[in-house]
Amino acid sequence: MSSGLTSETKKPISELARQERGILFVISSPSGGGKGTLIRRILPLVPRLGYSVSWTTRQPRPGEQDGIHYRFVTLEAFEDARGRGEFLEWAVVHGNFYGTSFSTVKAELAAGRDVILEIDVQGAASVRGTGLDSVSVFIIPPSFEVLRGRLGGRSTESAEALALRLNNSRAEVEQYREFDYVLLNDDLERAAAQLAAIVYAERARRERQELLAQRVLATFPPTSPTL
Ligand code: ADP
Ligand code: 5GP
Repeated sequence: MSSGLTSETKKPISELARQERGILFVISSPSGGGKGTLIRRILPLVPRLGYSVSWTTRQPRPGEQDGIHYRFVTLEAFEDARGRGEFLEWAVVHGNFYGTSFSTVKAELAAGRDVILEIDVQGAASVRGTGLDSVSVFIIPPSFEVLRGRLGGRSTESAEALALRLNNSRAEVEQYREFDYVLLNDDLERAAAQLAAIVYAERARRERQELLAQRVLATFPPTSPTL
């Protein structure tokens, strides 16, 4: 009997529970909101979740490695890449250029891996504008005072850079309305668990599980009208 199933549906059920195309997760917050910390927390815990390393013209901070934290480039190299259409989105944030590599993201998504973009609110707006299927999460600190304390405590910025980031923070937080999810970063463990839960919940959305559901349904005999 012809099942009418495509080659996709001949895969084991467990394979089908994973969507064929990965999901693009856009994660934003004001500087010091906790994006980096939360993302680093969940990456080793959630399978099939990748991270897109951005390009930036910012100087590396002590301990930051090229190719791991960012691809650190000159302004000339950045503009060159931008001219070649290398970026899915790019923006000037707190005085430096940042961009997301299109080819890296495409390759990850096509391989069925979900990808996290850790980008600012302008970048999040650009991704929305592309019409790509994406899920956005805004990480919100408990208060301005807490944000100031955390950002200052990170000790990675000069007094000037810190003041600029804090000064930009209100306008960034106002953008929360544009996101699919708003996640309060109060307790780290709780917030990380919630971020992982968002990833799992998005994976389980009905429209992303069509193949799986059809395959399972095909194992059921037709309902008998006489029973
Ligand atoms: P972002 O990547 O958004 O700029 P970070 O992840 O670097 O922010 O977090 C800023 C600082 O706040 C870091 O020093 C980090 O350790 C600290 N931090 C982040 N989340 C929490 C939290 N829930 N509780 C306490 N400190 C936190
Ligand atoms: P930082 O200099 O603290 O690493 O990052 C400053 C801001 O730039 C953060 O809000 C960070 O999320 C954002 N950022 C990092 N990479 C990108 C990117 O590729 N595109 C955009 N638009 N913003 C980015």
